[in-house]
Amino acid sequence: MAASVSTDKHSLRAKYLEERDKRLRPDGNEQYLRLAGTSLAHYLADPYMPVVEREPVTDHVTVALIGGGFAGLITGARLKEAGIDDVRIIEKAGDFGGTWYWNRYPGAQCDTASFVYMPLLEETGHVPTEKYAHGPEILEHSQRIGKQFHLYDNALFHTEVKDLKWDSERSVWIVRTDRGDAFTAQYLTMGTGPLHVPKLPGLDGIDDFKGHSFHTSRWDYGYTGGDPSGTLMEKLADKRVGLIGTGATAVQCVPHLAKACGELFVFQRTPSSVDVRGNRPTDMAWFENEVLEPGWQQKWLDNFAANQTMQRVSEDLVQDGWTELAGRVRSRIRGLPFWKMTPKNMLAAFEDLDDEKMSEIRARADETVSDAETAENLKAWYRQLCKRPCFHDEYLQAFNEPGTTLVHTNGKGVERITQNGIVANGQEYPLDCIIYASGFEVGTDITGRNGFELTGRDGLKLSDAWADGMKTMHGIHTHGFPNLFILGGFQGGALISNVPHNFVEAGRTIAMMVRHAIDNGHKEIEVTQKAQDGWIKLLRRGRGNLIGALSDCTPGYYNNEGQPAGTGSELQVGYPKGPVKFFKFLKQWRESGRFKGIAFR
Ligand code: NDP
Repeated sequence: MAASVSTDKHSLRAKYLEERDKRLRPDGNEQYLRLAGTSLAHYLADPYMPVVEREPVTDHVTVALIGGGFAGLITGARLKEAGIDDVRIIEKAGDFGGTWYWNRYPGAQCDTASFVYMPLLEETGHVPTEKYAHGPEILEHSQRIGKQFHLYDNALFHTEVKDLKWDSERSVWIVRTDRGDAFTAQYLTMGTGPLHVPKLPGLDGIDDFKGHSFHTSRWDYGYTGGDPSGTLMEKLADKRVGLIGTGATAVQCVPHLAKACGELFVFQRTPSSVDVRGNRPTDMAWFENEVLEPGWQQKWLDNFAANQTMQRVSEDLVQDGWTELAGRVRSRIRGLPFWKMTPKNMLAAFEDLDDEKMSEIRARADETVSDAETAENLKAWYRQLCKRPCFHDEYLQAFNEPGTTLVHTNGKGVERITQNGIVANGQEYPLDCIIYASGFEVGTDITGRNGFELTGRDGLKLSDAWADGMKTMHGIHTHGFPNLFILGGFQGGALISNVPHNFVEAGRTIAMMVRHAIDNGHKEIEVTQKAQDGWIKLLRRGRGNLIGALSDCTPGYYNNEGQPAGTGSELQVGYPKGPVKFFKFLKQWRESGRFKGIAFR
């Protein structure tokens, strides 16, 4: 059995490093398989909606939005509100929703409170039914936004962009897709998200397995029975199922599998930290009496961002795991006498709190899991923000189900796949079905991951322009690529605990700029080289990149699988003064109507 919880700081640090070192491997991201164009490409097929034949499109639109997830939907809605009707969303899935279209595994649920996570609630009038809404409700909400803002009218589904070229004679982008489309768009937004390309572990024999297998983002309800609402997957009652991976996805689907499967084997390389969830239905009377007022969602968004980034605020409206953690740090730091408020002491206070929190989370395993060895093996030995923190009230309990076995591999992971099943710890586990909860490509190059190149002015390729790191102003505009808007977090708010908030602010900004260009007869919008250089200089003065700060963490996609972060990664940062100040700055920037740093032609 592994060592028990230690409160001694020194030995805890040593234990964390020992656990990290067990998992470090030289191949980093290369340990995973990219599926497109290989014999494994069938793992990418859409199990939810059939692909409908259609004629290629060869027309012109004012704005093309790549990606029909939250980024594209929010920006599309803001453009429509600004009176720009001629917009087209291009989406590789069969409907809107992005990650919520694909991730229909049982138990899928948002991790950030739905009142701030789900966008455009006030505009649509939807009130989330739970503090943490489940997948089907979020998918339906995406469709609601699509319908209300008439974004279905011109959308292209089951369509992947293959090439984007700037035509400087006509000041338009030429968009080519895998469905033979070749149309032009005056403006282009890229809301492709960081987690949309599923990956499989690079295991010998992965092609040989004779049973059934799928990735969690392509759940095969035809095989399992049940449905995304969590109805019992009755077809698994006589099946031996193996699940590879114990990240945020596995934490949510394991409880459902444990109830349904004849036998379930959960193959674990690194345990997740699983804190209390505390989900509850929305009390409508409370919502109507205490929340509902014009502008309520923006107030909640701003309040969440302020709490989460430890600003001075009088109340915590959202009260979830993220703001609770931040609140604890804030009060601990405020508890220091003012002469002790040095950066070193503040970091030490933060570390102490982290140790306390992680000890609590490890103690949860002992309190919840009946088998002592399984409980020990479910404990996470790293700092809470080393990996995506998880929150769940049924995950640990699932290991008390008689048919559920945790296959702890002590950091080594699954060894290989055979015709019959999975080999781990030198033992073969014969299985009927393998489910890969092995995550998504993150640290890979953006062009390869997205599957298309952007060629801007004078033949400049985005992969060359960014060869030594992402370069933008505000994370939205990049020099050499006129009329292109990027929707993400880096080099802007970088609020990763509530990603949609970044899109809310960017969407407003983009709609205002396009409106301004149209009203003033401009055909091109481009950030100047000088303004972009100035922004990069400002970012470099900040606190440095996330990946560097996580180098002593156990490997995962948060720290580039424990590898040196690579050229330009120091630019994967946010505004040095944090998201709250960035959002305020961006609001003033756009509302001034001067759009400083942008050349309109
Ligand atoms: P992750 O990348 O977080 O997890 C992949 C899992 O596969 C890890 O546990 C990894 O282990 C494991 N793994 C990889 N190779 C092997 C192997 N050879 N043997 C055994 N295990 C292996 O993917 P997820 O899909 O779980 O989550 C991805 C992200 O999606 C989350 O971090 C989160 O950002 C988002 N998400 C958000 C949710 C929400 O908001 N509600 C819900 C679900 C996901 P190891 O840790 O050792 O690398």
